[in-house]
Amino acid sequence: MSKVMISEYWDHGKKKAIRRYSIHGGTIPPTIFDWNGEKYIMPGWYKLEKHEYNIKREDIAYYPFKANKPKLPNIDKNKVYKVLSSKGNKHYEVKMNNTGSMECTCPGYGFRRECRHIKEITSSL
Ligand SMILES: [Zn+2]
Repeated sequence: MSKVMISEYWDHGKKKAIRRYSIHGGTIPPTIFDWNGEKYIMPGWYKLEKHEYNIKREDIAYYPFKANKPKLPNIDKNKVYKVLSSKGNKHYEVKMNNTGSMECTCPGYGFRRECRHIKEITSSL
């Protein structure tokens, strides 16, 4: 679920408070949505008041939901890493799968779901 947060502060000498909007959570970047002649910040259905109608998309800070999974930040997920077999006569391919874990084409990975090639790649980056 995402939530629209409003914070207001008074700038020195200004008549009106300055509003800041931010969206926390969710995976959809904020937009301003016109509906039935009214304006809303989406997602979150925050209804804008008339005096807020001049806000722009850029006025809304966005803090997307982050999945809490183990990260391999240095792995290029579109890249296939080629490693030499221990006998040196063929290559295996190590790459990241859709769930974010590494897989390898060698027979050892086929049996154990882990192998030294993956360790080599992940520790060398
Ligand atoms: Zn392997």
